[in-house]
Amino acid sequence: MPIRMLLRSLMITWILSSPRLVSLSVPIMNRISYSPSWFLNPDRNPILHRLVRGIFYNHFCAGENAKEVDGTIKSMKKMGFDGVILGYAREILAGKDVAPSGSSKEIVEQWKRGTLETLAMLGPEDFLAIKMTGAGPIAVKAMTKGELPPPVMLEALTEICDQASKQNTRLWIDAEQQVFQRSIDAWTIDLMRKYNRSGKILIYNTLQAYLKGTPKNIAHHLSLAQKEGWGVGIKLVRGAYIMIEERQLIHDNIEDTHVAYNGIVQNLLSRKFPGVSEAEEFPNLQLFLASHNAESVQRGYETWRERRRRGLPTIKLEIGQLQGMADEVSCGLVQIRQQMSSAGIAIPNAEKEWYPRAFKCLCWGSTRECVQFLVRRVVENRGSLDRTKAWLAGLKKELMRRVKSSVRLG
Ligand SMILES: Cc1cc2nc3c(=O)[nH]c(=O)nc-3n(C[C@H](O)[C@H](O)[C@H](O)COP(=O)(O)OP(=O)(O)OC[C@H]3O[C@@H](n4cnc5c(N)ncnc54)[C@H](O)[C@@H]3O)c2cc1C
Repeated sequence: MPIRMLLRSLMITWILSSPRLVSLSVPIMNRISYSPSWFLNPDRNPILHRLVRGIFYNHFCAGENAKEVDGTIKSMKKMGFDGVILGYAREILAGKDVAPSGSSKEIVEQWKRGTLETLAMLGPEDFLAIKMTGAGPIAVKAMTKGELPPPVMLEALTEICDQASKQNTRLWIDAEQQVFQRSIDAWTIDLMRKYNRSGKILIYNTLQAYLKGTPKNIAHHLSLAQKEGWGVGIKLVRGAYIMIEERQLIHDNIEDTHVAYNGIVQNLLSRKFPGVSEAEEFPNLQLFLASHNAESVQRGYETWRERRRRGLPTIKLEIGQLQGMADEVSCGLVQIRQQMSSAGIAIPNAEKEWYPRAFKCLCWGSTRECVQFLVRRVVENRGSLDRTKAWLAGLKKELMRRVKSSVRLG
């Protein structure tokens, strides 16, 4: 990790490890996100812009334009990551009256342009992250009512997926609040049915392990794919909307969420899943572990490696964390590969997948567009203060190690 990044990580993690500073920053960021005032809009008020960028944005976000984002992607790949996931920040939260201006059609068109612009910044094997709510009120209304995607939305999605397929960039659909999720699942299954064919998996759906109903939902995805002969891409997360979600849908405590997450991973890596017929061939499946939890990442990777070593059936596994979060987990994965290379373990091209395939997930957009994304990162840290403190201790240790070694060299 470059020294500049280390120092910035140290500063942000210090802020996030203080419950008082975190409690203070969330309401301020919410005001900044939704206020109609010029003064509170960081895209218009240059002083606020510098402040938000300097404190949080530069740590968690990739940039405000293609040039800045390109620089961030290059630096991630130079550090050894296999690829990146890039998303455009615009989104709508249920109950927040912040619809962008213009007719519904114009808003979908703006979203499509932003998404295609994002796609153009990516290469083969990277991922484009899409938030369906980003397409604005017409999509939100259809999703809330459980309807099919409106024709203008379907056209936009088709254009985006066709372009992704052409350049071999994969595409994942983010999971959002439950009021939208039934439709997001249905729309995404339709895309998988169309694009995940002939052994290729282009489209991934996001499944949230904190929901009690997720194992049943995964079995539904897999059974449909098995019956109809298409492939499933699953990005597995724990879930980020606990603060605003119907609480009874979510596991009663965090331990149950951990057990659910790790159990789903073990089943998927074994190509078996409760509720999916074992009489027929298991569908083509690829798994992306999107988590900052070191234990889940470690367990998932070790199970997968062991199954491969023993010649047991398994699936393609990739792992990723958000930019600015759990850097020691991400860098640990990159290091495993670097140690394998420097130990002279020759790995032929066909076996490249023995490596833990490590990704960083980046978000780009104007400072204001990214504020809700930043709020979720801050809230997430508030929910796991012990871990944030452990990150802080790890970063301090690394800084001290570097200081001592440069003094010794000097
Ligand atoms: C690359 C990437 C992409 C992501 N994309 C999405 C996405 O599309 N949609 C989405 O919703 N989230 C997404 N997330 C966020 C994710 O859902 C988690 O909020 C976040 O990663 C923290 O979970 P963790 O696996 O890192 O584990 P930990 O930090 O160990 O677990 C914290 C999580 O446990 C759960 N939890 C906390 N308290 C309780 C409780 N009392 N009862 C039950 N469960 C509890 C919550 O889900 C909480 O986020 C993404 C995360 C990453 C790394």
